[in-house]
Amino acid sequence: MMRTFRQLTRRPGVRLFLGTGLASAVLCGASGTGTVDWPYTSGERSGSHYSPLRQIHAGNVKQLGLAWSYDTGTTRGLEATPIVVGGTMYTSLSWSVAVALDAATGKLKWRHDPRVPHELGSRACCDVVNRGVALDNGKVFIGTLDGRLQALDAATGRLLWSVETTDPGKHYTITGAPRVVKGMVIIGNGGAEYGVRGYVSAYDAATGKLVWRFYTVPGNPAEKIESEAFEKALKTWSGEWWKLGGGGTVWDAIEYDPQVGLLYIGTGNGSPWNRNFRSPGGGDNLYLSSIVALRPDTGAYVWHYQVTPGDSWDFTATQPMILADLRIAGATRKVLMQAPKNGFFYVLDRVSGELLSAEPFAKTTWATRIDMATGRPVETPEARYGEQPVLLLPSPMGAHNWHPMSYHQGLNLVFLPTSGIPFAYSADPRVLSLRGHGWRLGVDLAPGGKVIVPAAHKEKPDDPPGSLLAWDPVAAKPRWRVAHKSWCNGGVLSTAGDIVFQGRGDGNFSAYSAQTGDKLWEVFLGNGIVAAPSTYSIGGTQYVSILAGYGGIGLNGLPALDTYKAPGRLWAFALNANAKLTPVAGQPRPSLTPIEAAPVPGQIGPGAQAYHRNCTVCHGINAVSSGSIADLRYASQAVFDNYRHILLDGALAKVGMPSFKDALTPREVEAIRSYVLFERSKLEARK
Ligand code: CA
Repeated sequence: MMRTFRQLTRRPGVRLFLGTGLASAVLCGASGTGTVDWPYTSGERSGSHYSPLRQIHAGNVKQLGLAWSYDTGTTRGLEATPIVVGGTMYTSLSWSVAVALDAATGKLKWRHDPRVPHELGSRACCDVVNRGVALDNGKVFIGTLDGRLQALDAATGRLLWSVETTDPGKHYTITGAPRVVKGMVIIGNGGAEYGVRGYVSAYDAATGKLVWRFYTVPGNPAEKIESEAFEKALKTWSGEWWKLGGGGTVWDAIEYDPQVGLLYIGTGNGSPWNRNFRSPGGGDNLYLSSIVALRPDTGAYVWHYQVTPGDSWDFTATQPMILADLRIAGATRKVLMQAPKNGFFYVLDRVSGELLSAEPFAKTTWATRIDMATGRPVETPEARYGEQPVLLLPSPMGAHNWHPMSYHQGLNLVFLPTSGIPFAYSADPRVLSLRGHGWRLGVDLAPGGKVIVPAAHKEKPDDPPGSLLAWDPVAAKPRWRVAHKSWCNGGVLSTAGDIVFQGRGDGNFSAYSAQTGDKLWEVFLGNGIVAAPSTYSIGGTQYVSILAGYGGIGLNGLPALDTYKAPGRLWAFALNANAKLTPVAGQPRPSLTPIEAAPVPGQIGPGAQAYHRNCTVCHGINAVSSGSIADLRYASQAVFDNYRHILLDGALAKVGMPSFKDALTPREVEAIRSYVLFERSKLEARK
């Protein structure tokens, strides 16, 4: 009998985060046959990134071989976790392209390209990525980088409806996966590096009509107050934050608990980052960097917990959330777990919002601990930086970012990728006068960049730039940790076979023992991995799939693998599969040809600042490209001769390099050119 995992979990009494053990016994214990789906990007509705499948286990994982691969046709970042329902895999690629493939063979069924104008790529803080699709009732839903929400026919990929969810005049983007809840598609957006106001919306899944919208931060109090929740929030803001956007974008985590009847969203950083400019009188700035519970039918506020009051560090609470039932102090608690950027692992009661535990899972120098009486971090004196650079941990990249973590119910462990790189924060008062393109942070990225690059490449086993961490959420402490040499690594999958799968920025895809962290299997794929794997079963065969395509925040010039424009690929593995595995190979890096141009000494400093505000997001910190976009230091004489033409007149707009004439003066363009020539001269000196 073929019964999908989804059908099973719809049966009364079989609840995913209560009865996973039962489901796994039914599905796989006896025969190992049948079809088991991965129907959500997180596998289960609870966000767990866990599978009850156990055909692949610690004793046989070494026999994994390549079942199939699919060339995605992109060299940009790939962040989606593929979903699989009824033998078909659905996923998204860079530029919001959606594909459907036969999940057993990799044969393409359809491909839908929403044709996002490539010059809009510069509006995305962290690459032109997309973290996945949702499937419901014969429709595939996807948010596009330029703010559209689309419904596609799951059988053919044909566009059924498409709605604008954002103001095209503002720098909103969508990179997160939609979720379908009670016949509505829930979608957020990003843009808090560019001066926007965050919100989450619900659209009718059948028609695309807007049902409700919840803004995460108040707008101008002289105008309409959209939510009763703002009566409380307004007291925590000062100044004229609405002119700067405010931030609080809901760009990734959204979870729903049908039993408790609440929808949970994670909100992002302040816009601008630096609170001194955003809210000059201080304040917590609700509901930035918070976990907020809403009524799914109306979007009405129910409760919130703010992980970082008065955020000034880009410490978002948009990181993945996992809903589980844990035995804590002798009682079963319905909890919500999150490991946000700020470095503390939070366990909340998801019915009431009560804080149950919050312990550091990484080195944190901005705060020493969370005061359990108040639920607030105890900040260190240096945390509120001024114009002098202050070195702090974690960095804006986060001790943990969007990369999915996984909860193994049988072992009661959460597995998560962590980063341990510091950042030098310093105020940049020009945020109030900036215009047009570019980041508006109130933070100068140039000094930050100087420390982040060496930190990302250090090789200290006791203080690694990245790791895979097994965290005990009941004891609130680590169980084991595997050090990685790369700071930006992939999301995590755990299974009832007691295996943890994770890809790394260095291009390796690995399986570890969930009990001990011992490495059991590894394969080199040739391109850095930031996405999370998914697993599913078709006709009695368990597959593990993963998208390999370095990018996202890793685009900011910190590659762990020296590739240049390496193609992204979707891979699927199964026991004893024997398709030939050839790692992808990038193009040769361009060579440095002599040019006749030299930096103007007085222009290098201002150029570094203007560069890091406007160019870093694509061309990399310190003008070092991650390899997926042109490395400006290697540009030809013709490019260096035409900086104004390219940056102000949009000469290369057709290939994705937009005009920055709304943001940069001719003088700033010359300064950026000097700065890039200065960075280039370091390469020449090395030759
Ligand atoms: Ca951010």
